[in-house]
Amino acid sequence: MSEKKLIIAIDGHSSCGKSTVAKDLAKKLSYAYIDTGAMYRSVTLFAIQNGLLNNGNVDESLLEQKLPEINISFNYQPELKKNETFLNGVSVEDEIRGMEVSQNVSRISAIAFVRKRLVELQQEMGRVGGVVMDGRDIGTVVFPSADLKLFMTTSADIRAQRRFDELRAKGEDVNFDEILENVKLRDHLDSTREESPLKQAGDAVVLDNGQMTKDEQLNWILDVLKEKQLL
Ligand code: C5P
Repeated sequence: MSEKKLIIAIDGHSSCGKSTVAKDLAKKLSYAYIDTGAMYRSVTLFAIQNGLLNNGNVDESLLEQKLPEINISFNYQPELKKNETFLNGVSVEDEIRGMEVSQNVSRISAIAFVRKRLVELQQEMGRVGGVVMDGRDIGTVVFPSADLKLFMTTSADIRAQRRFDELRAKGEDVNFDEILENVKLRDHLDSTREESPLKQAGDAVVLDNGQMTKDEQLNWILDVLKEKQLL
């Protein structure tokens, strides 16, 4: 394996399994995994907890004032494939995946000062390389010179079904149509926002994983890395 510590950017639509494949890849390469969606979700949870989000409206001036109080960190154990997100020292891993956060996160992530702060943190986290980072703007904004850029996608129905199964398995009482609607709405908001919209980088490799198992996806990416002589 090459000694170079790569930066691998994985972008794509909501709920298409980016984090699953990113975690597998990070484990395989002994790299750090950084889930940037968890960072936007944590800021959203902070806004909810502090009464800054009411009926989808964000109190932007108060959020901007409070931004320095938001501290987000990760504790990732590759062997257990367990990733925990902490907001101001408290584990919020389950809370940030719930429907309330999912329904509001695209509003928070469209705010320029929120993106600026989180992008700076992400650049600092990935500075030395040896990272797999997933999100929406990693290959376009956070690390435009990443060694490998992947763009993952598949149909909204398949993505909603996966999210439904995942939330049901956690015991959440969720409704498939509501999830499908949320997936489509987030695609729309994420792709049409003014600030760093979700778009495929010109030099990204597309992975449509609709009909692929986890292992097939991992092997596919490892093959791309080998083809590009990065491994
Ligand atoms: O990846 P995940 O679905 O957890 O991301 C939640 C939301 O965070 C996305 O729908 C998007 O609005 C926002 N996000 C973003 N930029 C990133 C990662 C996530 O805008 N790099």
